[in-house]
Amino acid sequence: MVIHHTDCGCLRYTNGSMRQEIIARIGPENAGVINKMDFGPISDVEQSTKDDIAWLKQSPLVRKELADKAQGYVYDVVTGELRRVA
Ligand SMILES: [Zn+2]
Repeated sequence: MVIHHTDCGCLRYTNGSMRQEIIARIGPENAGVINKMDFGPISDVEQSTKDDIAWLKQSPLVRKELADKAQGYVYDVVTGELRRVA
């Protein structure tokens, strides 16, 4: 099961905004490294769940019988609902 959730902090930034914030805090000396980092932002929680399931299904590190059974869900932090993502 892959369960993402509503109101996730990863919805509140982009790679650009995160890089800018970190460089502002630590200084520009390591900007080259920071600017290559991916901080895993998401813009759509349902799509990010689908993306993770798709990644699991193609990963050579996950046994096929497990990948075949992988299911994605979105947990609504307000209502408590757990909704399956097709
Ligand atoms: Zn989260």
